[in-house]
Amino acid sequence: MEDKTKKCLYCAEDIKEDATKCKHCGSNLLLEEKNKKIKAKNHESYNTFTLLSFLLPCVGIVIGIIYLSKKNPLDKKLGEHAIASSILAFILWGVLFSFFIGNVEKQFISTQTTSTIMDDIYKKVSMDSVEQYRIAERQGDKIQICVQAGFVAAAYLQEQNESSYQEWKDIEQKDCAKAGLY
Ligand SMILES: [Zn+2]
Repeated sequence: MEDKTKKCLYCAEDIKEDATKCKHCGSNLLLEEKNKKIKAKNHESYNTFTLLSFLLPCVGIVIGIIYLSKKNPLDKKLGEHAIASSILAFILWGVLFSFFIGNVEKQFISTQTTSTIMDDIYKKVSMDSVEQYRIAERQGDKIQICVQAGFVAAAYLQEQNESSYQEWKDIEQKDCAKAGLY
C-alpha cells in the first residue's frame, strides 16, 4: 500500500499525509494544522458576526461586549469587530430609515397639495358657473337660466359645498318652474 503524501509547508519536501513532524526540516506540522483550523474558524466567526451585526445591530453590540470581555485576544478582536459592524449598521439603518420617512412625508405633502389644488379648481368652476348664470339671467332666456342654475348646483356638488348645493337646487327648481319645465 502506497502512503499518501503532501508537501511540507516549510521546506516544500514531500512528506507523509499524516506526518506530524517534517522529516526534512523538523517543523511541527501539528501546530500548523491547528493554526489553520483556528484561522478558518475565526474567519467563519467574522462572517457570522458581520452579518448578525448588520441585521440586528442591538444584538451585535451585546455580543461584541461579551466577546470584548473575554481573555483570548482573538475573541477580543472578534468583539471589537462586532461592535464596529454594529455601529456602522446603526448608521446605515438610520440613513435608510430617515430616507424612507422623508419619502413618506414628501408623498403625504404632495397628496395634500394635490387635493388643495383640486379644491381650488372646484371652487373656481363653481364661481364661473355662477358668473354664467348671471349672464343667462341678464339675457332673460328662462330655459337657459334653468339649465345654468342646474350647472351651478352640479358645480357645488362637485366642490362638496353642501349648503350652496342645496341653495342652488332650490333656485334651479324655481327657475325651471318659471320656464315651465317642472
Ligand atoms: Zn519540512
